[in-house]
Amino acid sequence: MKIDKSIELYTRGKKNLVGAVNSPVRAFKSVGGVPIFIDRAKGSKIFDVDGNEYVDMVLSYGPMILGHRNSTVEKTVKKYMKNGYTFGASTKGEIIMAELVCDAFPGMDKVRFVNSGTEAVLSAIRLARAFTGKNKIIKFAGCYHGHSDALLVAAGSGLATLSIPGSKGVPDEAVKNTLIAEFNNIKSVERHLRNDDVAAIIIEPIAGNMGVIQPSAKFIKELKELTKASGILLIADEVMTGFRSQFGGAQELLGFEADITCLGKVVGGGFPVGAYGARNEIMEMVAPLGDMYQAGTLSGNPIAMSCGIATLKELKNQDPYKDFEKTAAFLEREMKMAAKANGIDLQVNRFGSMINPFFTKTRVVDFKTAQTSDTDKFKTFFWKMMENGVFLPPSQFESWFLSTAMTKRDIYKVRSAIQIAMKAVAN
Ligand code: PLP
Repeated sequence: MKIDKSIELYTRGKKNLVGAVNSPVRAFKSVGGVPIFIDRAKGSKIFDVDGNEYVDMVLSYGPMILGHRNSTVEKTVKKYMKNGYTFGASTKGEIIMAELVCDAFPGMDKVRFVNSGTEAVLSAIRLARAFTGKNKIIKFAGCYHGHSDALLVAAGSGLATLSIPGSKGVPDEAVKNTLIAEFNNIKSVERHLRNDDVAAIIIEPIAGNMGVIQPSAKFIKELKELTKASGILLIADEVMTGFRSQFGGAQELLGFEADITCLGKVVGGGFPVGAYGARNEIMEMVAPLGDMYQAGTLSGNPIAMSCGIATLKELKNQDPYKDFEKTAAFLEREMKMAAKANGIDLQVNRFGSMINPFFTKTRVVDFKTAQTSDTDKFKTFFWKMMENGVFLPPSQFESWFLSTAMTKRDIYKVRSAIQIAMKAVAN
């Protein structure tokens, strides 16, 4: 695989960028080699600076659910670019976007747009504390909720990939109110509820940041009952799953309603948008209606809103969720067959359009079991997939994503790459 130009840019980039990247998972640290530099993308394909072409299953870590440069979305964005880029005052687009989002998530009467998933979650935590007057937050080991101080503990993929337990620079006081429970283990949650200062439980309802991990239906039901009975808020971090698992996110798929929902990724269609929303009684705490302060110069940016609106409308029209399920089931079967043929222990976890393999014979149901995966095998697998034209996240602990732009031909290309890559893993 020719990557001379990527190597050249990596060498040049290291001088003025940290590790030549602006987000650590892009550094390819756990799979070795240098990060690939991208030139452009269109539809289901992404092209690097050396001219290599890949079927894109990273999709910018989720947002590009329609593939790249969807023509309807692009036309809309171009149109709105002509009106100006940002005004520091309200626009009609923000209202249309809010209507679309609140319509998709019945638990949301009102929504506030921000610029990233991190910002959505840190604001939701502040809101939960403001509403309940309590301080502690329960989070699950292996779930990632962005890089705000309080949530940077036991935080899944980026840290697991780099083998960093938490982060330097986060003071003990910042995490002293963060309690850790185990995914799919209600007893580990109940244990913390002896503490009467708990404001909220935050969860990735379908975990995607320790690889894909599906919650048991019982676990979600118990979480909902437990929070309701104890006056604690349930925060669904749907930054990854919102509009991806179903149009109404994991909540629609799993049949529950959170007290506060966080969104990001797909909601901006590739532009920097995050959002948090809840029923009126909770959202009325937020300034200017209430005393919980949260603001942003570029929040609700008109171009980002136009991209989000066009993406959500197109997604609603296309309604791809049944097809995603079929494609993911096909890929699961193919991966398992190829692994078996080569004597490799493999688990494949998937939910909706999120899927990934774990190189282990242990069933993967939480962070601990995810870590039984053989990351050296993943490394070999990853590079063979790349060599054979499939762009995957460079980490064992990240979900692969499907887009509506993927054709049958692309899916067969992924299958052939899987067959070659599994053989390489066995050797
Ligand atoms: N929450 C979840 C579930 C995520 O997957 C991510 C990002 O991967 C975030 C929050 C943070 O979002 P952002 O990277 O936009 O800040």
